[in-house]
Parts: sequence; structure tokens; C-alpha cells
Amino acid sequence: MTNRAITLHGRHDLRLETAPDPAPGPGEVRVAVSHGGICGSDLHYWADGGIGTIRVREPIILGHEFAGRVESVGDGVEGLALGDVVAVNPSQPCGSCRFCDEGLAHHCLNMRFTGSAMFLPHEQGGFRDRITVAAHRCAQFSPDTDPAHAACAEPLAVCLHAAAQASDLAGKRVLVTGAGPIGALCAAVARARGAAEVIVTDVQDATLAVASRMGATRTVNVAREPSALDAEAEEKGRIDVAFECSAAVPAIETAIRCLRPRGQLVQVGVAGTTPLPLNMLVAKEIAFLGTHRFGPEFVEAARMIDDGTIDVAPILTHEFAPEDCEAAFVTAQDRARAVKVHIRFGG
Ligand code: ZN
Repeated sequence: MTNRAITLHGRHDLRLETAPDPAPGPGEVRVAVSHGGICGSDLHYWADGGIGTIRVREPIILGHEFAGRVESVGDGVEGLALGDVVAVNPSQPCGSCRFCDEGLAHHCLNMRFTGSAMFLPHEQGGFRDRITVAAHRCAQFSPDTDPAHAACAEPLAVCLHAAAQASDLAGKRVLVTGAGPIGALCAAVARARGAAEVIVTDVQDATLAVASRMGATRTVNVAREPSALDAEAEEKGRIDVAFECSAAVPAIETAIRCLRPRGQLVQVGVAGTTPLPLNMLVAKEIAFLGTHRFGPEFVEAARMIDDGTIDVAPILTHEFAPEDCEAAFVTAQDRARAVKVHIRFGG
């Protein structure tokens, strides 16, 4: 059996090629990949040939959100058996740099992140039929878990890490700006954490409908109703915590306008140099909080999907075969239709 892999050779140049297929060594498992989710970074690699200063400099197999079934097990692996549904953690911190030493492995100076063009050689990704990985990178699911759901452990972990930047969300009024996969999952996390209200904004009705199914208590299409959040901005603002998932200037401005004094703005969306209404940010004593990837939240995300705490089904809008990867990427870029687009492999 060939090991088909979706390989990016440069801007808009995806090819279905054959990847190496090593048998698992000691401590490793081979995973037959079932589903791989297209993330914003995959889209940037494909559409722009890179993300900011990180450029694709050699062919790279894309994909860092993937799950499948264990196909073979190397010597010394315990707790994983043939057929187990697993999601593979894309993070591979070095374990010995100063941030790893400080317990901040997600800031590892030598992080090898699956499907990332950060370092040369690039870290090859998970959009392929089979991948051999260290067994400890696998989060295990119960046998009846849909691997498509398991593949959402990675983006959900990003959202759990974002929520961990804020104080307790129980009883809080939360605003989520941007209803892509991360915005929708942030809404679900806020509800799971006991938020009293979760308002989600976007400029697309289709993605807002998904956010509703993920737990938003109210959705606002800010393109159609630009003044719908004015009441939230009254008396210095009524929102306790905002998760800004769009990195769009108007959305950041809205979040800061609606946040109450001493509120928290968790900036999840990423952009380069971006204007901010510093006057409001400073005068309302808003805490501006960054968030980067995740740490132990990967295992927590897997558990929450497995035990049904969070049902990711509503975000799964499209599925494509590997040979249709071009169409998958075009669809993933279309925010009017797509939330999470998966490539379906054979595992
Ligand atoms: Zn490190």
C-alpha cells in the first residue's frame, strides 16, 4: 500500500505524493490516519507560501490536526493496541531548553511542530494515509468515538489554552469575535466553563449558525447589524471576557469597546502590526492577554470530546478525499460556507 501524502511544493502547488512509511520502532506506533483538519496555517502555507517570516522552503506534507486508528505497535508500547482511535499531538518540545525547564514547553526554543515550516528541514505533517509517531504523542479515545471528532482535539486544545488565560468564566458575560473553527470552539469552551452568556460575532450567517449550535447564546452579524452591540458598550461596557478570534481591526475595536473596566481581552487571532484603540484599552484597565498553542490542554481536549462535554459535530462542515485536496483548500478558504474542512484518509 502506498502512503499518499498531501505535499505542498510552493504557493498553490499541492501534490498527492508518496511518503515514506517506516515500521514503528521501540516506543512508536503507526497510525492509519482517518481525518485531517485544514487549519489557518495550512491555508496560509498554501495561499501565500508561508506565514509572515516563516516560508515554505522545501516540499512539506501539511496538516497538524489529525486522528486515526493505531495500525501497528512498536516494542515497549503500553496502553495502546491495534484499532485504538487516537489523535496525535503535533507538539514535540525538546524538553531541555530554558522554557521547557520552566514548565513552559509550548514556548520551547526548539519546538518541532508537525506540519510546520518553521525549521529546516521542515517538520512533515499528518495529511497522509499513515504516520509513525512516538506513542506518548497519542491521545486515546473510546472505540466508538468518530475519528473526525478526535481530529478536533488540536483546535479545541488551542481554545482551552485561550480560556486558561482568562479568570474563571463561570457566570460571566463572554464575547467571541469571529465564528471560524476557533471562535466556535471558544464559544463551546465558554459554555462548558459556565459562562452565563456567550455572544458571538461574525460577518457570515452560515458560520454564526454553527456558533449557535456550539453554544452561543446570541449571535450578531456585524456586517448586517453594525450597531447591534451598542448596548453592550454602554456605561463603559458590559462584557467581562472577550475572545478575539478574527484579528480584524473592527472586531478588536468592538471587543475593547464592549469590555467592562478590568475586563479581559484574550487575543486568539493572529496578525502582524495592528492598530488598537489604546485610549480605551488603557483607561478601562483592560487586561490584554496573548495565547499561544497549548500544553497539557491537548489531553484535556481529547477527554472533553470523548466524554461528550463538548460536541464538535456542528463545526464539521465539509469532508474531501485526498485526491480532491485542491478543492478542500479552496472550500476551507470560503468563510461564507466552511467552518472546519477535513481531508478523509482511509484509516
Ligand atoms: Zn525546549
